Amino acid sequence: MADCVFCKIASGEIPSQMVYQDDAVVAFKDVNPQAPIHILIIPRQHIPSLMDLDESNAAIIGHIMLVAKNLARQFGIDQGGFRIVSNCGADAGQSVDHVHFHLLGGRSLQWPPG
Ligand code: 5GP
Ligand code: ZN
Repeated sequence: MADCVFCKIASGEIPSQMVYQDDAVVAFKDVNPQAPIHILIIPRQHIPSLMDLDESNAAIIGHIMLVAKNLARQFGIDQGGFRIVSNCGADAGQSVDHVHFHLLGGRSLQWPPG
């Protein structure tokens, strides 16, 4: 999608600290990290939010969870623990309308979130 920052990161038009990519998925470091490890995992396909998913997207979402697991191990947060977050809509604070999953770890995370 032309005006989407995450589509531009996925295509390489906007630079990022990419940590993983394949045909369907891109993962890169968040520009404003909220934890020592803060990685965003996105589908290359422009899907605005979780509410726009349907059965045709089930495989890619499952794939993203496996990528997250592998990145957790790669970045050394698999033993200590980590959190995967997808903010959906205004009340959750979603600020980029391209569905994405935050992988957060490297410190003790509070619950419930604010
Ligand atoms: P949201 O608030 O929508 O759940 O998360 C969007 C995230 O994208 C934020 O944590 C924000 O820091 C990150 N972000 C926004 N623009 C950019 C960018 O241009 N590059 C990178 N690496 N992260 C971005
Ligand atoms: Zn997009």
